[in-house]
Amino acid sequence: MYTELKAAAPESLAYAAKLLREGETVGIPTETVYGLAADATNNNAVAKIFAAKGRPQDNPLIVHIADMTGLEGVVKEVPEDCKKLAAAFWPGPLTIIMQRGDKIADSVCAGLPTVAVRMPSHLVAAELIRLSGLPLAAPSANLSGLPSPTNARHTFRDLQGRIPLVIDGGECSVGVESTVITIAGEQPMLLRPGYITKEQLETVLGKEVLLSDAILNKLQEGAVAASPGMKYKHYSPKANVVLLDGSAEAYQAFIAQHAGAGVFAMCYEEEVSSLAVPCVVCGAREDAAGQAQRLFSALRECDEKGAKIVYAHCPSTTGVSMAVYNRLIRAAAFQVIKL
Ligand code: AMP
Ligand code: MG
Repeated sequence: MYTELKAAAPESLAYAAKLLREGETVGIPTETVYGLAADATNNNAVAKIFAAKGRPQDNPLIVHIADMTGLEGVVKEVPEDCKKLAAAFWPGPLTIIMQRGDKIADSVCAGLPTVAVRMPSHLVAAELIRLSGLPLAAPSANLSGLPSPTNARHTFRDLQGRIPLVIDGGECSVGVESTVITIAGEQPMLLRPGYITKEQLETVLGKEVLLSDAILNKLQEGAVAASPGMKYKHYSPKANVVLLDGSAEAYQAFIAQHAGAGVFAMCYEEEVSSLAVPCVVCGAREDAAGQAQRLFSALRECDEKGAKIVYAHCPSTTGVSMAVYNRLIRAAAFQVIKL
């Protein structure tokens, strides 16, 4: 299949909406990462997403809507907690899991009684939902297992030949996938950390939000994941990523001792001049949001530059850093060296 790459002009959005209505897939920009979108009410269209990405069938997709009326038929009912969260964070990088409605294709929910819903703030994503008149199922637009794409070039590189169209809407401003919270159980639970933090969610809901075990820890063999996506190896470049847990001085000393062919550092802006190996920069030291924004393109840059082993800082697990930690620890297949 020939894949077109088009700038987000009115004609290309109209064309993308037509493809979506015809049951095709389109790579689209959102504020979090690029998504691979299809009609969430059409099983055949959704099957094309799984096929193009090589995504396991038991990993459900997020449904994207443009306004609150878009929830109709997508969810069974709109709980009070959803209204509170939507008022505070929608449109924006928050996904809410609720009981599913009858309009959504079975394959979107991968057999679960629940559905994940998000209202993106990216103008191109919102416009495509409106133009197509459809709720759009869209996972990240990477090949399964690779780092999520944060620009059209990365999307095109992964899915070229597999989908008809990628819309270029520039670099993603958030850079990591949405925060995922479930309000389908007894108590709200964070299933995936993102730009919107646990503390922000608790403030808006006025109650404690539990933390899924799988966020910070490796799932045990055979354990059932609250969020199926958490059980897969994820976000990995070809290079072997290893996290170093220690002070800036210890990091610098370790890298000096381990310099050699193919050895790279994924480091903060401030450190480039003090490290003895080639560097890939991932934001400034005190800027967790900047690190999140850069993370996936930094991981891809490691491969583009031919890194064999990449030593990265082990992020903290608070605030937005929890999202960086969650992605990076999986990219590193849970390899951490305590310095
Ligand atoms: P992606 O779209 O690639 O960012 O992945 C979507 C994430 O949301 C995956 O981790 C899924 O497992 C998770 N997810 C989607 N729907 C549900 C659901 N109904 N219940 C729990 N997790 C879900
Ligand atoms: Mg993904």
